[in-house]
Amino acid sequence: MTQIELQNISKAFGSMTVINDLSLEIEDAEFLTLLGPSGCGKTTILRIIGGFEQPDRGRVLFEGKDITNLPAYQRPVNTLFQSYSLFPHLNVYDNVAFGLKIQGLKDNEIRPRVEEMLRLVNLSGYEKRSVDRLSGGQQQRIAMARALINRPEVLLLDEPFGALDLKLRKDMQIEMKRIQQQLGITFIFVTHDQEEALTLSDRIIVLNEGIIQQIGSPTDIYNEPINAYVADFIGESNILEGVMHADYDVTFSGRRFTCVDFDFYPDEAVDVVIRPEDVTIVSPEKGMLEGVVLSCLFMGVHYELQIRVGQELYLVHTTIPRKIDQHVGIVIAPDDIHIMRKGEVEGDEDI
Ligand code: ATP
Repeated sequence: MTQIELQNISKAFGSMTVINDLSLEIEDAEFLTLLGPSGCGKTTILRIIGGFEQPDRGRVLFEGKDITNLPAYQRPVNTLFQSYSLFPHLNVYDNVAFGLKIQGLKDNEIRPRVEEMLRLVNLSGYEKRSVDRLSGGQQQRIAMARALINRPEVLLLDEPFGALDLKLRKDMQIEMKRIQQQLGITFIFVTHDQEEALTLSDRIIVLNEGIIQQIGSPTDIYNEPINAYVADFIGESNILEGVMHADYDVTFSGRRFTCVDFDFYPDEAVDVVIRPEDVTIVSPEKGMLEGVVLSCLFMGVHYELQIRVGQELYLVHTTIPRKIDQHVGIVIAPDDIHIMRKGEVEGDEDI
């Protein structure tokens, strides 16, 4: 069921348009991620949903009701910011209990709910601990408990793990996913980290300059990026200039290939996207293309090679190291050649 709907939202700061006619439906209990580079408007969208920012144009609906002009504190939404904003002079219990105390609830109603929240974030027994004696990860959990104790229907999370180191960040991602599934509430999550987005989300929205490029499941977005921007942003890619002569018939890197794409104009200029893990290295005489190895780096689970093919550089992932200056052949299967119409974004009509 659609829970939140953004209808034709635009927002400018001064002369700079940050969000441009953006429409979006968010499902009840989904984990939705807004993904894009710094400055693309992710936080602004989150703030419009939270009621901290007014759109210049467009409407925000919650379960069909227009909440565009409803103040933040009346929305069934809570926000978890990157800075945890815990109260340093209060202990864990009082930090978590805060939202219920200002609602005027009695101690005997508050205590079981604080205990339930501390159990949820795996910090039972920490009630009396001062928050400045907690680790970064523990502080983040307390901030989450505090945001959830009011039982919001939607939790907005703005890069909540930005301040944590990589290991802790991964642990918190697993925790957050578990909590979201356990509570069955909607999480709208902002990040510029594509790996984090792929790991956590039911759906990802890839944004560039306030415009939705693509909406889809992590596998859709990784396997079927709609344009070269998305392909480049989600994982590493070789993006090559190509010409689509006819259905299933494309030229790039100076050679004609069979692909699985169709429905282009005759001889349309296209972006050809090939993932580094989809390039197979063979002996030079067996290759569809021939190249020279420029570098070979050990990356832990694979080697990353740069191979010069004519004037182009191919990035290739392989489990077998190759020598610098070695001549190699390259093979690419038809369904690993992804053809993208230049500049296409979500919602564009097929020709
Ligand atoms: P980041 O990942 O760096 O937080 P973001 O994608 O969340 O970036 P926003 O915070 O939404 O981006 O900002 C989008 C653009 O709007 C930026 O160029 C930012 O400087 C500008 N901006 C945001 N808030 C304001 C404001 N209150 N006044 C003026 N400009 C603003």
